[in-house]
Amino acid sequence: KPTCIIVMGMAGSGKTTFVKRLCSYLSEKENKSYNINLDPAVIQSPFPAHIDIRDSVKYKQVMKKYQLGPNGAILTSLNLFATQFDQVIGLIEKKQGDFKHIVIDTPGQIEAFSMSASGQVITESLACSFPTVIVYVIDTVRAENPNTFLSNMLYALSIMYKTKLPLVCAFNKTDILSHEFALTWMKDFEEFEDALNSDKSYLSTLSRSMSLVLQEFYENLNSCGVSAMTGIGFDSLLESVQKGAKEYAEIFLPDIKQRM
Ligand code: GDP
Ligand code: MG
Repeated sequence: KPTCIIVMGMAGSGKTTFVKRLCSYLSEKENKSYNINLDPAVIQSPFPAHIDIRDSVKYKQVMKKYQLGPNGAILTSLNLFATQFDQVIGLIEKKQGDFKHIVIDTPGQIEAFSMSASGQVITESLACSFPTVIVYVIDTVRAENPNTFLSNMLYALSIMYKTKLPLVCAFNKTDILSHEFALTWMKDFEEFEDALNSDKSYLSTLSRSMSLVLQEFYENLNSCGVSAMTGIGFDSLLESVQKGAKEYAEIFLPDIKQRM
């Protein structure tokens, strides 16, 4: 069965660019992947999508018809699409012998997918049918700010708990800044504390107590540095995904079966 990769991350972290790079990397390395665009609001999708939410839901019309703003229209479009997602699974299953990976791009704003009911329905349908791994994309340049780093990690953690799926952290944009500092922060709490010490705000006090809780999460976290722009790091990213797929089979699959 093909491994399903759901790409999540904050707006501007580089999800779509990452999906584009992953598609071309995979088609060179093995064979073509099966690609799905779930962002109803994207104007031009830069990768070849086998299934595109925009073909069945017209975002602009949803906005007009239901008198919604941009975020409401994205959520409503996802809801409409989620109701027919069993058909999507059927389509993939028919073709599943032809490819090794299913790659999924999600809406720009992270909460539209990760915190919505339709996002949950879609994620669960996929995870029930295929080995599924979440790739959480982080903008390394922005994460150089320790508070931004921490909020990214909390988001990744909550996605992992919510989906109960294996998660790989992809520190993106390493063509601009190496993710070495992030690895240091995760390994050595005192280093992170030093970084926080330059900031005396209330937020950093919160960060300080949160980061103790995160230590255990970091220890088991599967992470790597990539550049969606240049293609650096995709060999090790794919290794991490394979590791995630193994975890899915050993830990997550038995749990999913129990819940069904
Ligand atoms: P999304 O909102 O998460 O889908 O992010 P996009 O893929 O649209 O990327 C947001 C911005 O980051 C765009 O201007 C991209 O060109 C840029 N970007 C994405 N990945 C990289 C990268 O690896 N390196 C650099 N330098 N820029 C990147
Ligand atoms: Mg995008």
